[in-house]
Amino acid sequence: MYKKITMLHGAGGSESLELIKGAILKRFSYSKFDVPLDALDDAAVVNGIVFKTDSHAVYPIFFPGGDIGRLAVCGTVNDISMVGGKPIALSLAIVMEEGLEFNILEKVLDSIKLACEEADVKIVTGDTKVVERGGVKEMILNTAGIGIRSPYLDHNLAVVKNFRNINASWLLDSNVRPGDKIILSGYIGDHGIAVMSARKQYGISLDIVSDIQPLNHMVEDVLKVGGVVAMKDPTRGGLSNLLYEWCEKSGVGIEIEESKIPLREGVKSACEILGISPLEIGNEGKAVLAVVPEMAEKVLSALRSTKEGRDAQIIGEAVSGHDKVVMKTVVGGKRIVPRPRGDPIPRIC
Ligand code: MG
Repeated sequence: MYKKITMLHGAGGSESLELIKGAILKRFSYSKFDVPLDALDDAAVVNGIVFKTDSHAVYPIFFPGGDIGRLAVCGTVNDISMVGGKPIALSLAIVMEEGLEFNILEKVLDSIKLACEEADVKIVTGDTKVVERGGVKEMILNTAGIGIRSPYLDHNLAVVKNFRNINASWLLDSNVRPGDKIILSGYIGDHGIAVMSARKQYGISLDIVSDIQPLNHMVEDVLKVGGVVAMKDPTRGGLSNLLYEWCEKSGVGIEIEESKIPLREGVKSACEILGISPLEIGNEGKAVLAVVPEMAEKVLSALRSTKEGRDAQIIGEAVSGHDKVVMKTVVGGKRIVPRPRGDPIPRIC
């Protein structure tokens, strides 16, 4: 029996990681770059240029709060921002299904234009392909993007160095140390539940809208304050997968408090109906930051003074002694958060 690709391989959990490590990394490992593929970080850094690519296969392509075009811009912009880059320019590749209505394409392109204006990035190169009917569902988009080093990254790292040693010159998953505070920039689960409700499969009709937004301006405001050691967006695999990546790459455990995690009632009840964890749902407009404890309150208030991060909370801290994500529950107990294997809601990004 030949092994075949399953939906789990694209879900961003442990099966995806096995595919990436087992099939891809062993062939393309060039660790001499500033931030190489091997780091499996949000973006690569090659000769000082931050570089990222992202494909988008969300279905349906329009959903409450956004569409595939806005997603394609924000996904790449945010990943470039997460390592400490300032996004500058994007490519746009469109794979369309034969028979797609022209006005649908134009609507998506208008949305891409607006999102680029919001993020202050430019589309500078691209490609279009058409495949036969059924080859894709309406369209798939790919964007790649380049960025320069944020003008505030050196200041941010200098602030970190007032309190402890840091060798890295970018905001990497491997920079987290015991004692660092973990800050979440706002509500989780909105995007996945919004896409889910647009599918009308499970009779969920809620007022939840996707959180898709570019985070580069918010990140800039935070780096001006300083003290951030790592940053990552909880996209596919959600908050729990993100925290496990930090545990694994930084050699720490992470303890979070359930009561501190911003979660809307509608998302909470949808998760209960669907039997899924909000910690595993992908978000498209949120960031998680690891910050030296001495600067945590200042970073928090900087976040809260932005529109993108106004609901930010300190949700926990990195610890030594174990390598798991542990959550203090609202009823006062502690439980190990499982690492997600697959995506509870496929094709939301
Ligand atoms: Mg990311």
